[in-house]
Amino acid sequence: MSQILRLDRLRTFVERIASLLDDALPEASLLEAGGAALRELVAHDDWLPDAYARPNPERYQQFLLHADARQRFSVVSFVWGPGQATPVHDHTVWGLIGVLRGAEIAQPYCRDESGTVIASDGARWLETGAVDAVSPRIGDIHRVSNAYDDRVSVSIHVYGANIGAVSRSVYPGEGGRKTFISGYSNDVLPNIWNVSKEIAIS
Ligand code: FE
Repeated sequence: MSQILRLDRLRTFVERIASLLDDALPEASLLEAGGAALRELVAHDDWLPDAYARPNPERYQQFLLHADARQRFSVVSFVWGPGQATPVHDHTVWGLIGVLRGAEIAQPYCRDESGTVIASDGARWLETGAVDAVSPRIGDIHRVSNAYDDRVSVSIHVYGANIGAVSRSVYPGEGGRKTFISGYSNDVLPNIWNVSKEIAIS
């Protein structure tokens, strides 16, 4: 990794998502254009400060990188230690997932006729650089795992809300459902606005 972190990449991404939301696009167009922006962001691994890529041996981490002033969207880094996985969960808002390091397995779930949440076809192996999407419209329930049991994987997600504050659900199996609010693993955010410093070194 280079000495100088390219935080401008994250700022540019934030600016692009904000302007896409200003355009009030239909969700499909938003996911397509937002997905292209996220693909560009995760194409380079030279911008994420180490503090937001640190695994925790107990559980996967969700670090807030940026929240929109009107909570229209939030950008987070997800850090999976070796073998770690999320529970089966939903989002209730649109979301885009881009793999920055390592690889992840995204297993979608759906409801059967009785309303029970079951694994559906189409588990995806997401390599570094890959982008995936979720939303109540296209499929909102999934389980994401680190594809590796011997290394850390990191992905960058953007959601259509302040995701750490959204009341949503996990599905522990046997038709169970439990409400949760994820919160965040960090109290301090990366400073993406130190533009004068970037000009000074460029
Ligand atoms: Fe998810």
